[in-house]
Amino acid sequence: MTAALVALAALALLGGAAYFLLMSPFSQVFGAYPYRARTRDRVVALTFDDGPNEPYTSEILDYLEQQRIRATFFQVGRCVERHPDTARRIAAAGHTVGNHSLTHRFDTYLKPRAFEAEVAVTQEILTRTIGRTPALARSPWLWRRPGVLRMFRRHDLNPVAGEFCHALEVFQPSGTRLARRAVAKTKPGSILIFHDGFDGHGGDRSQTVRAVRLTVEALSAQGYRFVTVDELLGVPAWREA
Ligand SMILES: [Zn+2]
Repeated sequence: MTAALVALAALALLGGAAYFLLMSPFSQVFGAYPYRARTRDRVVALTFDDGPNEPYTSEILDYLEQQRIRATFFQVGRCVERHPDTARRIAAAGHTVGNHSLTHRFDTYLKPRAFEAEVAVTQEILTRTIGRTPALARSPWLWRRPGVLRMFRRHDLNPVAGEFCHALEVFQPSGTRLARRAVAKTKPGSILIFHDGFDGHGGDRSQTVRAVRLTVEALSAQGYRFVTVDELLGVPAWREA
C-alpha cells in the first residue's frame, strides 16, 4: 500500500517534470520536441517543409512578403542545392531557415550514423548558401527517437515539431479543404506545418499555395499574428558566427 502510494507520488512528480521538459517551450532545458507554445496570445507560426521547390516556394514567398508575414522554412539540403537563389531569398526576407536533412529518404533515417551525416552536410550547405548557420531542425516525418534528439543537440540544433495542416496534404486535396482543417486546428501558440516541397524531389504544391492564402486570411480575421518558430518558442534561430 505504502509502496503503491510512493510509486504514485513518484509518477506524479515524474509527470510534472516530464510536462515541464516536454511541453514548456520556454524551458532552458529544452528537453523535447515542441509542437506548440503555451500562450494565450493569438500568435501562430507557419512552417514550410521539404523545399525549396519551384515555383511554389517563390509563390508562397511573394504572398508572405505582400502580407508582411515572416515564417519558418525547414529545408532539404538537396533542394537547397537545386534552388540556392530561393534559399537565399528566404533568409534575406527575414524568414527563419531550419535543417530538414539532406535527402529526406526514409531508409537513411533508419541508420543513425547516416542520418547524422545528412544533418551535418545540410548544415554546411545551408551555411555556404545563405551565409548563416541554422539553430533549428525538424526530422522528416517528425520522427523522434531519443537518439535523434540527442544527435540534434550535438550539432547545436533545437528540434521543432508542429501540427500538420492536413493529414492528406501530400495528395493535394483542394486548398479550401487544406485551409479549413488548418484553421480548425489552430490555437494560440500553434505551429502549423505546410509542405512547399515533397520529400527530396519536389512536385506540384499549388493547392498548398492556395491553402496558405486562405489560412492567413481566415486566421487574420480571427485576430492572429504570424511569427517565426524561434520567436514563438523563445529560442535562437541561428548559431552565433
Ligand atoms: Zn519533410
